[in-house]
Amino acid sequence: MESAAERFARMLHLASKRTPDNAAFAPPIVNTSIYALPPDPSGAYQYARWGNPTWTALEEALGVLEDAEAVTFPSGMAAIAAVFYATLKPGDRVLLPADGYYTTRICADRYLAPMGIAVETVATARLEACAVEDYRLVMIETPSNPLLDLADIAATCARVRAAGGLSVVDNTTMTPLGQRPLDLGADLVVSADTKALNGHSDVLFGHVAARNAQLMAAVRDWRRIVGAIPGPFESWLVHRGLETLEVRFARMCASAQALAERLAAHPAVHEVRYPGLPGHPQHALARRQMTSGGALIGLTLADKAAAERFIAACPLLRPATSFGGVHSSAERRARWGDQVAEGFLRVSIGCEPTEVLWQALERALSA
Ligand SMILES: *Cc1c(COP(=O)(O)O)cnc(C)c1O
Repeated sequence: MESAAERFARMLHLASKRTPDNAAFAPPIVNTSIYALPPDPSGAYQYARWGNPTWTALEEALGVLEDAEAVTFPSGMAAIAAVFYATLKPGDRVLLPADGYYTTRICADRYLAPMGIAVETVATARLEACAVEDYRLVMIETPSNPLLDLADIAATCARVRAAGGLSVVDNTTMTPLGQRPLDLGADLVVSADTKALNGHSDVLFGHVAARNAQLMAAVRDWRRIVGAIPGPFESWLVHRGLETLEVRFARMCASAQALAERLAAHPAVHEVRYPGLPGHPQHALARRQMTSGGALIGLTLADKAAAERFIAACPLLRPATSFGGVHSSAERRARWGDQVAEGFLRVSIGCEPTEVLWQALERALSA
């Protein structure tokens, strides 16, 4: 079987083999709204709401990484909404993570519930003890945000499937390199490629992937009909970002592991949450279903003032709400109303050289 590394290498060389003359390394940015059509139109390129060659190049690359069919969207939320609308109907019940991406829950409460779809939530750490049998769709987000609790993807998806439901994993945090939900039995994967997959904090993007052609046809139809389509330039940017995902993600995760260990030993730090630390309550599960502890660290300092002082004092930590980019960033999650300590920070480790980043963090902790 092809290894993850072999798959990534094959993906890298795919685009350059698909350009019209097989010579250009990068796919063309095709800015067009219409295509010249034969008398009996057929194929993917009939009108630009249906298809665009720049999306196709990226979808083929994502398809190799996911080992599945992939459909791209202009944001992570557009991808998530596409899965909801393509699979749910009135009378269905949906189970969402109570500690998953906040806007996913807002979307369900505001738009699905009034259509007669029952929306329920459960904390990620309690999913294992929760009956998942009566739901049409169960969404899993692991590690959760911001506390980095884990859910057992294989065990949950098996239970959902046995009961005839659909399991959807939001794999934004780990990317297809860090966690393989479809291999673990998930029906669908959604991803906010805005984060680590693109990685350069310069575009919003998303994708859906699945190995069931019928499901993917429904997702593709949703995009074609409602017009939630990505722009060619954004698709090209994400494709470019994707080509360095392997080196970026390896650096980010290796740094995060090293820094989490040192932060945990620092006297100014109250607590470190990181799936790659043996002290994480689900460390054994992390080792089973993730290729690393990821690039996010939950860091608790004494209080709000200490946390804000730490961010302000560290020149290599940008205060920002997103994560997964090449620049390390951090924010106090209580400012958004998350149920966490006032001194709790979500730190996203970027691609800075590890020792330089550690020195900056250590100086800021002592400031
Ligand atoms: C950011 C994020 C989203 C939404 O992505 P957008 O591109 O901002 O729409 C969805 N899920 C997770 C886990 C995210 O982090």
